[in-house]
Amino acid sequence: MKLFFSVLSTVLILLLLASGIIARYYPKAIGRSVAILNFSLFLPLAGSMMTDNTHEKFTATVGYYMYFIGFNLVLLALMRFAAEYCKNSGTGHKIPKFVYALLGVDTAQLLLNPFTGHAFSMEKVSMPDGIFYRMIPHAGQIFHRIVDYGIFGAVLLIFIVMTFRMPSIYKERYSVIMCTMSFAGLWQAFCISSNSPVDHATIGFGFAGIIIFYFSLYYRPLKLLDRLLSDIVSEMPEEALFLFDPNGRCIWANSLGSQIAEVQKGNLEATENFLVKIFGESIKNHGDWSDKTTVQSETELKYYTLESHTFTDEKDCLTGSYLRIRDVTREQQEVKKGIYEATHDRLTGLYTREYLYQSISEISQSFHERQYLIVFVDIKNFKIVNDVFGNEFGDYALQCIADWVRRDMSEYCRYGRLVGDTFGICVPESEFSPKEREKELSNFIIRKDNTTYQLLIHLGIYRVAPEDNDVSVMFDRAHLALSTIQDEYKTHIAYYNKEIREKILWNQNISSQLGEAIRTRAVRPYLQPIADRDGHIVGAEALARWIHPEHGFMSPALFIPVFEKNGMIAEVDKHIWRCACEVLSEWQKENRNLFISVNISPKDFYFIDVIAEIKSLVKEFQIPPEILRIEITETVMMTEAENRMQILEDFRRAGFIVEMDDFGSGYSSLNMLKDMPVDVLKIDMKFLGKTDDKDRAETIVKNIIRLSEELGISALTEGVETKEQYQTLSQMGCSLFQGYYFAKPLPVEEFEKLL
Ligand code: C2E
Ligand code: MG
Ligand code: MG
Repeated sequence: MKLFFSVLSTVLILLLLASGIIARYYPKAIGRSVAILNFSLFLPLAGSMMTDNTHEKFTATVGYYMYFIGFNLVLLALMRFAAEYCKNSGTGHKIPKFVYALLGVDTAQLLLNPFTGHAFSMEKVSMPDGIFYRMIPHAGQIFHRIVDYGIFGAVLLIFIVMTFRMPSIYKERYSVIMCTMSFAGLWQAFCISSNSPVDHATIGFGFAGIIIFYFSLYYRPLKLLDRLLSDIVSEMPEEALFLFDPNGRCIWANSLGSQIAEVQKGNLEATENFLVKIFGESIKNHGDWSDKTTVQSETELKYYTLESHTFTDEKDCLTGSYLRIRDVTREQQEVKKGIYEATHDRLTGLYTREYLYQSISEISQSFHERQYLIVFVDIKNFKIVNDVFGNEFGDYALQCIADWVRRDMSEYCRYGRLVGDTFGICVPESEFSPKEREKELSNFIIRKDNTTYQLLIHLGIYRVAPEDNDVSVMFDRAHLALSTIQDEYKTHIAYYNKEIREKILWNQNISSQLGEAIRTRAVRPYLQPIADRDGHIVGAEALARWIHPEHGFMSPALFIPVFEKNGMIAEVDKHIWRCACEVLSEWQKENRNLFISVNISPKDFYFIDVIAEIKSLVKEFQIPPEILRIEITETVMMTEAENRMQILEDFRRAGFIVEMDDFGSGYSSLNMLKDMPVDVLKIDMKFLGKTDDKDRAETIVKNIIRLSEELGISALTEGVETKEQYQTLSQMGCSLFQGYYFAKPLPVEEFEKLL
């Protein structure tokens, strides 16, 4: 018996130390408290073994002290463990301070025992298997027992309460500890009451330590897992789940599954029939597969994903299968809606530009089979429609155009809204009738409520070549074709052709050469004299010329519009202004009192600070501002009128003379003249020459001159080609003249010779 308990105690001590070390490295806090508990059990177990196995009174005494005091430590560790173990239950336990005090007092009084003998004494007893030292308890030992049982009982009570209070799936967690402790407590009670000379109560606690180690760190209650899983699965809101036995008989369905298959509780037999009715025969396959499918219900098209999996046991024998059915209708509808919104224009319902390009790319292999056209649909002055009739009418107009685009389109066509007021079509040439379209466009009227408006729509067309693959380039070309019918009201359709291509190449060429041409002064001003009433030259207009190494003499018509489009015009103008200032500064030195007018493009205002630029030139060359005259066309005034008026005003305030170029070519009414801060009106004969009725033209000029006189603005006529014109205009009161009659624009040296 003695040997048995010794071996058992030794094994327990070793197990406790080992489990303590393992628990110490457990990644959660509970591991630490289990480790402390198991290490603390070493002292009472070892103490108990010592008293059990010794003949020496001293060793037995030391053993008893290890046992009693060690047990106080065990209780401390047990409380710590209990607090940690119950932490996540939401209750949270803290060890009360007085418990520490009680254990402290008890330990102290035990330690005083060797001097006072109030706690216990020992008597030697002879037993059949040897000599033992039996402990005889006194008042101190009674106190020790009350403290220890009290604390132990309290901890046990905590676990009893937890066991009954927790939801049933968690009960097991607490009841295991409760039972373990109860067993250890009972065993101790038995040992004490058995009146045996040796106390083996610690063995029970040793076992308890091992059990606690296992249950608190490694045991996963299967029941709990099962319950949790089945709860999750049963209530899955979007997933129907069916379990089948190896014979394919349905043995369980979660609540959504039961709903779908209209399964009555307990009647799973009919499940498969229902599923087959909804999803087809393939559902009978209980292997491993997954699939997507749609089902037309009474009200809507439903989307499902199906997934079947088999289970096997460890010997690879089939134990059953499960079928998951997910209703993904809502997600599918969201996805579809998202795709639709990303690919369709909100207002017209047509494809967006990106999607149109993509869908044209997708049919590009059929470019070999038939001749396709890319049509760029452009509404002229659509901004006016919005401004005049409001956005609602504008939107309606766009919808009407979209309907027109949509009409008569076959499956071979692709069409969409490019951006704003432009639309794109890709159509086989055989399906496109230019004549019919011309007819429709010649009278394209939008009617809404009491408003009617005739839209001017132009179509630019590019014939697709089989090898074309960049859709945006095709549309660029179709767009470029429009430039040939820019302001046309009679023709509505234009094709991209060789000339347009050459024009593009030309534009690219001269744009790339401009920098060099300015540096080498291949671009330079020619001067055209301006004469007064007596025929004396009083000034000149600087007109840009490009003496090109390859193309020879180039008039501004060949390059100014190109640079106005791409913004390089500011470079040209800054250069011409500077050249003009150079000439003026030379003339000043030679005491020649002439002025030079320079042209300012409306586009300059977008790219540079025109007024600052010109002011700084005048300053640099130290010339009086009034001899550098500023020519601005009417069109400058058309946009952002107020802002531009301010600019003219600023020029005049700085001492410049401002001339309104090409008056009569634009839209400005005579009425506007009175508000325009200009000093000189340049009336171009060219624009009047268009009028067949000579008398009428003369009347107009006469009136313009008279009106300008009244407003204090002097008149300059340009394009004067004959003596007769010069004389008539003189009589009308015109003060300055410019035109071939006096001289063509000349190189600076020749102009100076002419002087
Ligand atoms: P503009 O400023 O109205 O210049 C007058 C145009 O009329 C010049 O054409 C001139 O050569 C032409 N002209 C002058 N007298 C007669 C005539 O008696 N009969 C006819 N038929 N034409 C005459 P050019 O030099 O070809 O310039 C055309 C336009 O190019 C200019 O019109 C001006 O708007 C623009 N331009 C010329 N140089 C520059 C420049 O340096 N910068 C800017 N921004 N535009 C310029
Ligand atoms: Mg001019
Ligand atoms: Mg002019």
